[in-house]
Amino acid sequence: MADVSATELVGNCLCLDFANTVAKRPESHDDWLKTMEGLLAWARMAGVLSPEASAGGGGVALSDATELRESVYRTFSAIVAQRHPDPDDVSVIMDTYAVALRMASLHREGDGHVLRWPRERSARAVLWPVAASAARLLLEGPLNRVGECPSCGWLFLDTSRNGSRRWCSMAMCGSQVKSRRYYATKNAHR
Ligand SMILES: [Zn+2]
Repeated sequence: MADVSATELVGNCLCLDFANTVAKRPESHDDWLKTMEGLLAWARMAGVLSPEASAGGGGVALSDATELRESVYRTFSAIVAQRHPDPDDVSVIMDTYAVALRMASLHREGDGHVLRWPRERSARAVLWPVAASAARLLLEGPLNRVGECPSCGWLFLDTSRNGSRRWCSMAMCGSQVKSRRYYATKNAHR
């Protein structure tokens, strides 16, 4: 199982963090969704599943989780590249969202409402908040603030004031690429 660390939630948006559950694209090694333990550990870290909540009963086929993840990735990656997302990918998101809505109740929060799901959940329910997050991002945006790290393919919502974010994180990719560039430049001058 991959090493789960809270510092890896860099997407600023649940569905984008879910898309980032592979260490690096396109190789897709270090995949958190290879095992049920990995999926549940990520869900707890991301706050989708409370630590004490069990996720038995019914379960989720890991292939469903991976299908949703890849659909989210391809959809928003296409949007970043200013292409039209594949309708099949959007359908996977919207179909899961439709199930999520049927199972959810509305809770007043601040000046609006949020969706909540029953505490006792099947592992499949881990996918509902993810699908809701993706649907909301598709419906409401801001799509011009979605970015993709050029080094590892992680997606993020750019919340910087001037919209200048380029990397998943400076620590993980920005500084690596910068130092590679630095050494390449240095060696070129030798
Ligand atoms: Zn990166």
